[in-house]
Amino acid sequence: APRGVPKMRRPCTFLVLLNPQSGKGQAHTLFTRHVQGILQEAGILYTLIITECQNHARELVRETDLSQWDALVIMSGDGLLFEVVNGLMEREDWEEAIKTPLGILPGGSGNALAASIHHYAGLQPVTSEELLVSCGFTLCKGLVSRLDLSSVRTASGQRMFSFLSLAWGFVADVDIESEKYRRVGAARFTLGTLVRLASLRVYRGKLAYLPAQDPRGPSSTSAQGPSPQRGPPDSLLAPLDSPVPAHWTVVTDEDFVLVLAVYQSHLAEDLIAAPASQLEDGVMHLIYVKAGISRTALLRLFLAMEKGTHLGTGCPHVEYVKVRALRLEPHSPKGTITVDGELVEYGPVQAQIHGSLARLIAG
Ligand code: ADP
Ligand code: MG
Repeated sequence: APRGVPKMRRPCTFLVLLNPQSGKGQAHTLFTRHVQGILQEAGILYTLIITECQNHARELVRETDLSQWDALVIMSGDGLLFEVVNGLMEREDWEEAIKTPLGILPGGSGNALAASIHHYAGLQPVTSEELLVSCGFTLCKGLVSRLDLSSVRTASGQRMFSFLSLAWGFVADVDIESEKYRRVGAARFTLGTLVRLASLRVYRGKLAYLPAQDPRGPSSTSAQGPSPQRGPPDSLLAPLDSPVPAHWTVVTDEDFVLVLAVYQSHLAEDLIAAPASQLEDGVMHLIYVKAGISRTALLRLFLAMEKGTHLGTGCPHVEYVKVRALRLEPHSPKGTITVDGELVEYGPVQAQIHGSLARLIAG
C-alpha cells in the first residue's frame, strides 16, 4: 500500500446507499446475492438505504451526522457517487466531510470508477457480477487512498465536483442517448457508440488548457475572486467571461468529433480511455478527436479503447495531453455536455483539478 494510507478501524460501520433503478434495475438483488455475505464475513456493520429518487442521496449526505459512519458506500453507477460527492462538498464542513472514505459497488450500467479501481489493483479485467465481487473484497480490505476531484464551472455560475469525466461531443451524446438502453447493462455504451457512428457529426467550438507540464512552473491566476460557494478556490481559472490566462495553450482546431477530459482509467466497464491515469496523479487526461476522422477510424479507435491501446495507434486526428485546467466554449447552439456521465448545463464550461481532495477505498 502507498505511504501513509490509513486502514479502517474494526469493527467498522458503512452507510450503503443503493439506487434500485440503476443498471438493469437489479441493484438490490445483486447486493443481497453477492455483497451482503462478504461484508458479514468481514465483520463489517452497515446500514442500507435505498434511494427513493434523484438527489435523495445528495440531500442525505448533506445533512447527516458523518461521525456515525466509517465510510459511505455507493451501490449504483457513477451517477449516484456524483450526487454524494457534491452533497459532501455542499456542507459547511466540506473540508472535513469530503475526507469521509467513499466506496463503490458497481450496480449501475455506467461503472467506470469501479472498473478503474479494479484496474489500478493490477487485476485481470472482469465485468458485471465478477467486478461487483471484486469491489466487495476491496471494501473489506478497507485501504483508503486519496482521490483527485475536478471543480467544474458553467456559464450560469454553477459549480460542481467531478471524480470521473467531463465530456462534449460524441462521448457525451452516447452517455445520454444510451440511457434508454440501460436494461442491457454496461453494453449500453457499445450499442450507443454504434448508433452514434451512423449519425456522426462535427461539434464546433474553442478548446484551451493549462498543460500539466507548464514550463513556467506552478502558477495561479486567482482572478475567480471570492466565491460564495463552498470548496477550495479555483486558483488556476480566470472568470468564464474573460479570456483564458495568456500562458494557456489554445487549440487552433475548432471542429471536433469529441472532447473528453477523464481522470480515471476507465470511461465504462470495458472502455479504458486513459490507461495511464491514477487516483491521485493531480491531472486530467485530455483526449480530443478532430473533425475529418472517418467512421471506420473512429470505430477502430473505440475498439482499441477496449484494450486501452487507442492512444498508441498514431491516428492523426487524435490528441492526448495531460492538463491541470481547461476551458471549452461550444459554438454549436445546441448540444450535450456531461460531467461523470450526468447531463449538465450546455454552454461554456471550465474545470481545474484539485489533487487528493477526497478519499476512496481502493487497492
Ligand atoms: P446507471 O449507471 O445505471 O446510470 P447511476 O448511478 O448513474 O446508474 O444512476 C442514474 C441516475 O439515477 C443518476 O442521475 C442518479 O442521480 C439517479 N437516481 C438515484 N437514485 C434514484 C432513484 N431512486 N430513482 C431514480 N433515479 C435515481
Ligand atoms: Mg449513470
